Amino acid sequence: MPTPEEKLFPTTKERFEDRRKERQHRDLQEEFFDHPTLLSVSRLISHGDFASIDYPISKGKEGGVFRATAGEGFRAVKVYRIGNTVFRSLPPYVVEEIRREASRHNFSRLVYAWTRREHTILGRLTDCGVRVPHPYAHYRNVLVMEFIGTPEGIAAPRLNESVVPEPEAVLADLTVQIRRMSHDAHLVHGDLSPYNILLHDGSPVLIDVAQAIPAEHPQARGLLERDLKTLSRYFARRCAVPAFEELWSSVGGASIGPKEAA
Ligand code: ADP
Ligand code: MN
Repeated sequence: MPTPEEKLFPTTKERFEDRRKERQHRDLQEEFFDHPTLLSVSRLISHGDFASIDYPISKGKEGGVFRATAGEGFRAVKVYRIGNTVFRSLPPYVVEEIRREASRHNFSRLVYAWTRREHTILGRLTDCGVRVPHPYAHYRNVLVMEFIGTPEGIAAPRLNESVVPEPEAVLADLTVQIRRMSHDAHLVHGDLSPYNILLHDGSPVLIDVAQAIPAEHPQARGLLERDLKTLSRYFARRCAVPAFEELWSSVGGASIGPKEAA
């Protein structure tokens, strides 16, 4: 039983906990919301793209994704961290491409180019009927997109943390999404794992598309192959999975890769 004094005054342990929480809060601010990022956020807010940032849904190496409130519902706001950490993990073919857009000596510009790239690719995928979050806006290192989750604001789980009730149907749906992505949008995701697929109302939604590459790129074939193998491995533990060749042709694999010289 705690003595009355102990009830009134926090124990050392509780004080320690409080300080830890404060520190976490401050770290979060420093980690993602440095002064320039706060200015970008306030610009997007005054533009009406959302009204407030609620809390982090995910904190990754490259950045964080936050739930935001917009007048009528929610949005997802992805904040890319400014710094060279992002680009250490990027595959060289992507760095190559965004370096053409941004000067190599200016990291913040590289990050802005990267953010814009994700916005552009989401737009192209939306236009081609691929199920991805609709992109609303971007400014510098901040991307505003459709919130994938319940109307009450609970974010959709990733495939890797879901119990999939009908795995065959989800896999079949995914092959349709990938086919649209490669065949209609001429893109290969390149990092399509159960971590980058959300399960929303039983249907898969593809996310994290910034590293997608043009279907004509010399590495596109290899990346599509890897994406499909990653998915097969995941689904093989849950349902019957078509042979690789069958998956490959159902996503239109034959059309991927450099155009053969005539
Ligand atoms: P990264 O892997 O680069 O950190 P992601 O784009 O994969 O960034 O997003 C990280 C996590 O944030 C996802 O795994 C998902 O849980 C969540 N998330 C991303 N986009 C959305 C969205 N539009 N709606 C709801 N949750 C999202
Ligand atoms: Mn991801």
